Amino acid sequence: MRYDSVRPGLAILDKMKAMYSAQVLDHFEHPRNAGEIADADASAEIENPACGDVLRLTLKMNGERIADMRFKAKGCVPAIACASAMTELVRGKDIHEAQSLRRDLLIEALGGLPQASTHAAQLALDALSAVLRSHSAPPRNTAFQGFRTK
Ligand SMILES: [Zn+2]
Repeated sequence: MRYDSVRPGLAILDKMKAMYSAQVLDHFEHPRNAGEIADADASAEIENPACGDVLRLTLKMNGERIADMRFKAKGCVPAIACASAMTELVRGKDIHEAQSLRRDLLIEALGGLPQASTHAAQLALDALSAVLRSHSAPPRNTAFQGFRTK
């Protein structure tokens, strides 16, 4: 019996180590801020149909600052790593600071990403701006729903 048919997990891990930085693998294996905030001030869910990644964020504010942000992710290794690193970067920031988080900063915090994985960073940032928008702005389409006439 071949070794990797006994422990298929090890072969996969070796392949992942060749592809991803130590930081990406660390966030994947030990996700920060995973889960869901029960009494969240806002939530958002974003899907990347190309890869099948789904990312759900919940947000708790303390005044103007982000007290807590948690994520639930279903997806590829970099999608989970990006979500985890992103929640770490925005904690304690105000909404404006969080909104201005750039993709290259997130990628830098992860020690780089393979070109094919940059969609994962974009997914984390899209979900971030969605949850911040849903917190800070009243629903934009209210006027178009026909419920209000004034
Ligand atoms: Zn993905």
